[in-house]
Amino acid sequence: MKQRIKNEGYCLGIESTADDFSVGIVSFNGEILANIISAYVPPEGGIHPREAARHHAEVADAVLKEAFEKAGIKPQDLMVVAFAQGPGLGPCLRTGATVARALASYLRVPLVGVNHCVAHIEIGKLKTGAKDPLTLYVSGGNTIVSAFNSGRYRVFGETLDIALGNCLDVFAREAGLRPKPGEPLGALVEKLAAKAKIFIPLPYTVKGMDLSFSGLLTAAVSLLKSGKYHVEDICYSLQETAFAMVTEVTERALAHTEKREVLLTGGVAANRRLQEMVECIAKEHEARFCAVPSAFAIDNGAMIAWTGTLAFNHGLTTPIEESYVKLRWRLEEVEVPWVGRMTQ
Ligand code: AMP
Ligand code: MG
Repeated sequence: MKQRIKNEGYCLGIESTADDFSVGIVSFNGEILANIISAYVPPEGGIHPREAARHHAEVADAVLKEAFEKAGIKPQDLMVVAFAQGPGLGPCLRTGATVARALASYLRVPLVGVNHCVAHIEIGKLKTGAKDPLTLYVSGGNTIVSAFNSGRYRVFGETLDIALGNCLDVFAREAGLRPKPGEPLGALVEKLAAKAKIFIPLPYTVKGMDLSFSGLLTAAVSLLKSGKYHVEDICYSLQETAFAMVTEVTERALAHTEKREVLLTGGVAANRRLQEMVECIAKEHEARFCAVPSAFAIDNGAMIAWTGTLAFNHGLTTPIEESYVKLRWRLEEVEVPWVGRMTQ
């Protein structure tokens, strides 16, 4: 174990909103000392919340231990414990919250409940140096276009049904694609799309500033079942259509807010084609394009820990009796007093 100065401020963050259980440890000046992620991979089909929660409970001890070893600190060196309080899957959130409460009570340190979507934006800002970005957050569970305005992260556009990552994952499973261990399904769709020869028109659904992916998914799956097209061409057409939809909404929000930076985050941010499209509209509006490195774009504990330090520094803590999980905690409901200071 590395020797560290005792009582330096460290925050431990627990992420368990969906299929990943992760523990991150950060210092108050933004140094990330550990970010250990254990992903639940269902034997077949999609994520079953209770099965994922069982995985989280089983690995919690080992992931915590590995995080402390990697960070080179002891539990007693922590100043605060943060956890993802929502939004997410109930059983998964409750498992992470239970671990966080136990740790904070045992160590007698404050607990901070963090909003998962705010954490994606804050870690993106930390890792890319963005100060006041328009953010496109696209993951397995969320699709949100957001920017800071009048004290909150406002939602300018979002999905009305399934998330973009979920759309790609369900399609990949329907197509029988088999990922290598640790390989995301969306990355497999990306690989196949690169080999496509033709574009097949698919339903493009943007309603005002909101998005809908379920009709697109159904149409892509029926092309697959028709047996008339190569899977590569359907992957390509699905990607092009879905990514054009999110890029259109992002561009309109950018024109409206006149932000100088565009931040791309969430698991789907790893996709090169999506990066290319978003970078293109950022350039047209003379905004800096910032893509979060993939280790911090996917669900991770470091983002919870970092946001925990920001909240804690502004006197925001969560008493145990208020630490119940919030399955549908919306981004614009969250107080973010630290942002106003940095951007106004
Ligand atoms: P998250 O929900 O943030 O943990 O991210 C997981 C989501 O990101 C899943 O839906 C993955 O399929 C998706 N994903 C990861 N890599 C890629 C990629 N290269 N292209 C598209 N989607 C991806
Ligand atoms: Mg995940």
